Amino acid sequence: MARIRLDHIRHAYSPDLAKANNYALREVDTVFEDGGAYALLGPSGCGKTTLLNIISGLLTPSEGHVRFDDTDVTLLTPEARNIAQVFQFPVIYDTMTVRENLAFPLKNRKVPKAEIGPRVEDMLRRIGLEAKADRKARGLTADEKQKISLGRGLVRSDVNAILFDEPLTVIDPHMKWQLRSELKQLHREFQMTMVYVTHDQTEALTFADKVVVMYAGEVVQIGTPEELFERPQHTFVGYFIGSPGMNVLPCDLDGGDAIVSGERVKLPAGLSARAAKKRIELGIRPEFVSLVARGTGIPVAIEKVEDIGSEKIVRARLGEHRVSAVVAEDHAIPTDADIAFSAERLNLYADSWLVERG
Ligand code: ATP
Repeated sequence: MARIRLDHIRHAYSPDLAKANNYALREVDTVFEDGGAYALLGPSGCGKTTLLNIISGLLTPSEGHVRFDDTDVTLLTPEARNIAQVFQFPVIYDTMTVRENLAFPLKNRKVPKAEIGPRVEDMLRRIGLEAKADRKARGLTADEKQKISLGRGLVRSDVNAILFDEPLTVIDPHMKWQLRSELKQLHREFQMTMVYVTHDQTEALTFADKVVVMYAGEVVQIGTPEELFERPQHTFVGYFIGSPGMNVLPCDLDGGDAIVSGERVKLPAGLSARAAKKRIELGIRPEFVSLVARGTGIPVAIEKVEDIGSEKIVRARLGEHRVSAVVAEDHAIPTDADIAFSAERLNLYADSWLVERG
């Protein structure tokens, strides 16, 4: 396996798009450590597939370099990079049996015959297709075909990396969970460098050790699920991760306080001093917003309470801004409550980037 380094990657799909400054990737400098399980997470169109294709060699970047360990592979073909790829839709041989499909990548790489049998049997078990091993792929369901595709990607252990582009989209929800935990298990056993593209935060957070969050052609944060939750570096990470996402409230600094819609919010000592600007944004996760008796906190108008079973989501209005709070399911919610923020959980942002936090 290899350490993958992306140096100053920029990509525009045509010279005209470049001229119009319309880059699918604006500036990406990222390292995927050897043996790490990474998820590339972001909304549709943010550049995930473009980045994955640049790592695999399906696409040559307009600018920048791709390195596998110390080798510059920017101009190498996918075959020469020795990576395995699993796409959203099955890439298999319909006329071969399931077993033959799994053996094919190994035969192709001239793996000794004695090794092929046991590896194929192991993979058949992991993807749950032992009973159909001798069936032609053609007659199988879309779900089963995609499992073969995953198996073909995972069966080789000599690759530099395994890249997945939304590989579980066509898999039924129940089976998704099982395959995801199988992927994690394989990663634990073989410590393969894995890069997994998804726009689904649950999928990213359960699969990856490190999540690479992308937004508008840039990587905005790389972190563990905890880091992304606790310390979003960019307001986008705050509201993209979490359900509901982080509250982001524009405010002015006044001494040690923040003024949000005319209401004074006390900041922890020293926090405001670290913000160079007067106009900032306050970030607070709904989990750290509480309801308190009227007159003891920040006055809001409660608009809606959503009971989601294990907890309640309270939607309130603070001046022209919306604020969400997550409270325990058995929490009684008075119609005239104020809200309070856990001061040590406040994050400050200037121009969308984290300044400091409580
Ligand atoms: P999705 O989750 O929808 O697949 P993504 O995050 O993978 O999105 P990309 O497919 O990498 O995003 O697309 C990034 C940007 O590049 C988008 O604006 C997209 O419209 C554009 N783009 C992608 N492929 C091409 C192409 N072949 N020609 C021109 N523009 C493209």
